[in-house]
Amino acid sequence: MEYPIIRTIALGLVFAFSLTQCKPKSNSDEETLLLLAAAASKICVNNSYTGTTVSNSTATLDTNTDCITGMTSSMSADLPAWIRNNFKCSVGSVSGSNYVFRSQNIPNNKSFYFGSSSPMYVALAGGQKSAGNNQIASQCMVYSIPSSPAAKSGALVGTQSGYASVGITVNGLAIFNNAAAAPDTLATEAQTFDTFNGHPQNSGVYHHHSQPLNISNNNSNLIGILLDGFAVYGRDCTNASNVTSTPTIGSDLDANHGHTTTTLHFATATYHYHYTSDPTATIPTLIGSYFYGTPGTISN
Ligand SMILES: [Zn+2]
Ligand SMILES: [Zn+2]
Repeated sequence: MEYPIIRTIALGLVFAFSLTQCKPKSNSDEETLLLLAAAASKICVNNSYTGTTVSNSTATLDTNTDCITGMTSSMSADLPAWIRNNFKCSVGSVSGSNYVFRSQNIPNNKSFYFGSSSPMYVALAGGQKSAGNNQIASQCMVYSIPSSPAAKSGALVGTQSGYASVGITVNGLAIFNNAAAAPDTLATEAQTFDTFNGHPQNSGVYHHHSQPLNISNNNSNLIGILLDGFAVYGRDCTNASNVTSTPTIGSDLDANHGHTTTTLHFATATYHYHYTSDPTATIPTLIGSYFYGTPGTISN
């Protein structure tokens, strides 16, 4: 006698174990064992920063902030204009020689991974498949990012060193690097991206490895900031004279996917990253395996 439900669950478990671990993350066994538990929202120690913890079943978009209702979206006046005027859905401030971002990490786009009972739910596109039972869950991400970034001398720091995130997007979301958890490739993992190119890992951290499609689709929009303090743009680069090009690794970009030019946000030539094709993955990915500068810290 067949037990299709049990078989379906068993297959689901295998699928969940094989596809949900994305790097970078804290890859402890403990977290792996928690994989099958429903992703529980974190209650931030000081939620006066991040606002009301989002519940997927009631999540709606606040049309004033363009963030999920209840989340705090504010950038302090002492932040530079390129951050102050472009970042939202997190709380940004300056602390000493660092920028600090606190984020619940809930996307302001509809996603399959809000769950079918959520007002923010949308079905996957054709050809996409679910990343196991993972659902988006509120986080307490605190980024501390150097405000005067500089090229690192000596050995570069890897982007695959267990960070909870390697950067934050302009809409407050985690940026992951160009790696998937073995034995998967990122191309395999990309099959579980939602219609906005994001997906959650096993503790509900929604993230982008590739172009966040509600920010940039092959253009020069500002995407966010990496942990080392350098800005990230889409695949194109628009300089301060409003001339747009598509830089590539080898001729324009270094191995970290960056170069030093002016942009619409930096009138003097400043290092920044681009999304570009990476030989380690068959999809356009953000950065290579190393930071150009010295990364700050991330906690969650
Ligand atoms: Zn991932
Ligand atoms: Zn550029």
